Amino acid sequence: MNVTHLHCSACSKRYEPNQLLNLCECGKPLLVNYDLDAVRITLSKDSLHSRIPSMWRYEEILPLVNKRNRISLGEGFTPLHHARRLGAALEAPNLFIKDESLNPTQSFKARGMTAAVSMAYELGVKKAAVPSAGNAAGALSAYAALAGIEAHIFVPSDTPSANIIECQSLGAHVTLVDGLITDCGKIVAERKEEEGWFDVSTLKEPYRIEGKKTMGYELAEQMDWELPDVVFYPTGGGTGLIGMWKAFDEMEELGWIGSFRPRMVAVQSSGCAPIVEAFHQGMENGTEIRNAHTVASGLRVPKAIGDFIILNILRKSGGTAVAVSDEELVSDARAIGAYEGIFAAPEGGALLSALKKLSSAGKVRHDERIVLFNTGSGIKYLEAFKS
Ligand SMILES: *Cc1c(COP(=O)(O)O)cnc(C)c1O
Ligand SMILES: [Zn+2]
Repeated sequence: MNVTHLHCSACSKRYEPNQLLNLCECGKPLLVNYDLDAVRITLSKDSLHSRIPSMWRYEEILPLVNKRNRISLGEGFTPLHHARRLGAALEAPNLFIKDESLNPTQSFKARGMTAAVSMAYELGVKKAAVPSAGNAAGALSAYAALAGIEAHIFVPSDTPSANIIECQSLGAHVTLVDGLITDCGKIVAERKEEEGWFDVSTLKEPYRIEGKKTMGYELAEQMDWELPDVVFYPTGGGTGLIGMWKAFDEMEELGWIGSFRPRMVAVQSSGCAPIVEAFHQGMENGTEIRNAHTVASGLRVPKAIGDFIILNILRKSGGTAVAVSDEELVSDARAIGAYEGIFAAPEGGALLSALKKLSSAGKVRHDERIVLFNTGSGIKYLEAFKS
């Protein structure tokens, strides 16, 4: 609502708002800038008390110009659950789970897509396309349906069946691709011009980050403006991690928080861990993983376009990157369920596996305030839990 311009995350080139944008000319993601003095006029910590329990409570710091173009199903403001029983078992009394499975379409992809589809609607888009590992496809299908925008979905043929059935039931055009999300992305890139599709691929569209950054605002608000010590994030494209870091910086500029930052921990599956490899090899960019495989389909991203931003955040925050096996992550998703009553996605389970590893290596202290982002619901991954 108070956007001044967008800028490139790599070369800093500036772009005017109120136009459809994808990547910068240089091929890197764009980030959104706001007039924070204008934001401050109506948005304060106190003003939040009377606002709707959705991520749109932070509307001044979200990109939409006209409220009437908001395409919303009630996303965000998910519970920050104090995981007391699991915490006791791990001797970590300050363990929290931000439960994103309660979002519309059962994953945090709803946050990015409500922002992206609202903006697309405001800017007159009629047809949108996305390559997806599953949950982004479901979210685009839902918000596009609500907006009356045609949704064209490209997913790997071995995507969890719940995601595929969901997209079809939400009226989207679904194409199954014999390959990975990167192959799906290539098809969208090749065909979009001719078909008149707007590409809402993660980070190739600048507003999904804005939607996902609200996780950072909520975390601060729900922790009474004291950020936690460690944040565990299941990293595919890294949109939420980049978004939260951006939110922390915005909140500091708004005077809502100080300069303290959590250590950010990116968690991946050992079957597809480009960020973990690049982090530990001291590389600035990730490599592309061949034969990427994991049941945590949201983590099956062989090459993230914003990998250099993710790696920079992990290092700046004093955090790290951890890979866990599929066996561990499914078993730990079950543990979250059995201790806390939350049927976590495999991606969420991976965070518990990573926490155990870092605790036993002495890299996370027991008394620290730890937050795990359970990014989706296990209900979408029944195949993974059947075995
Ligand atoms: C997409 C997805 C992820 C990865 O999110 P990014 O922000 O792209 O890194 C993690 N978990 C689930 C359940 C997802 O759907
Ligand atoms: Zn650029």
